[in-house]
Amino acid sequence: MINIQNVHKSFGDLEVLKGIDLDVKKGEVLSIIGSSGSGKSTLLYCINAIEKIQKGKIIVDDIDVHHPDTNQDQLRQRLGMVFQQWNSFPHLTVLENAALAPRVVKKMSKDEAMAIAEKELIHVGLGDKFDVYPTKLSGGQQQRLAIARALAMKPNYMLFDEITSALDPELVGEVLDTLRILREDGMTMICVTHEIAFARDVSDTVAYFQHGVIEEMGPPDQVISNPQKETTQKFLSKVL
Ligand code: ATP
Ligand code: MG
Repeated sequence: MINIQNVHKSFGDLEVLKGIDLDVKKGEVLSIIGSSGSGKSTLLYCINAIEKIQKGKIIVDDIDVHHPDTNQDQLRQRLGMVFQQWNSFPHLTVLENAALAPRVVKKMSKDEAMAIAEKELIHVGLGDKFDVYPTKLSGGQQQRLAIARALAMKPNYMLFDEITSALDPELVGEVLDTLRILREDGMTMICVTHEIAFARDVSDTVAYFQHGVIEEMGPPDQVISNPQKETTQKFLSKVL
């Protein structure tokens, strides 16, 4: 499980996270919604220790993420992350891209890494693209390659940061469908998303971020369909 306790994060004088408390249990999907600059991406970076925190604690399974003795490479192997725009290696095929991290980071043999990569590419619907170069993929296919590449590391958790935001509208659905499959497989996920309908359909919990605090959190039936706070209502009226 991911346990976030009273996390504070500042960039210089700017306090971006002002006491975040969150729990994501095994098999659960948490969606984070909120306006630009509210600290959503920063929280994901704090979870996988790309960013330090000033106060509080983040625990991933039994790992205290920001403890000085923590092996951050081991931590990151448990956390797959996919961003808004992901740059694959243009000189490697789709299959080689997906097999790269298991080979380099986990030191797997070529055959072993390729077998895992093939399986994950089929999983995300790219079973017919093994030998294609990434520049020949659509945006939606590129994002699915990014997901397969993260899955090939066999993470315990997946963190998604607005992975459909840069896509043409007609390509959003195929990427969200891939996330729905992962959910059915029981993957534990944190999804920062602007896709409110998706958040309503797939999440166990939705957290609405505003200015570095969680304004409202609960099941989607509450936070999205029947928000209790005026601030949440206002945000949703703008994005729905
Ligand atoms: P968006 O929806 O636009 O992606 P967000 O909720 O993900 O927004 P963050 O990227 O977490 O927002 O940024 C929160 C605030 O922290 C913003 O004001 C941003 O300018 C600031 N910030 C983020 N990263 C840094 C950094 N490396 N140095 C200084 N300020 C930063
Ligand atoms: Mg962001």
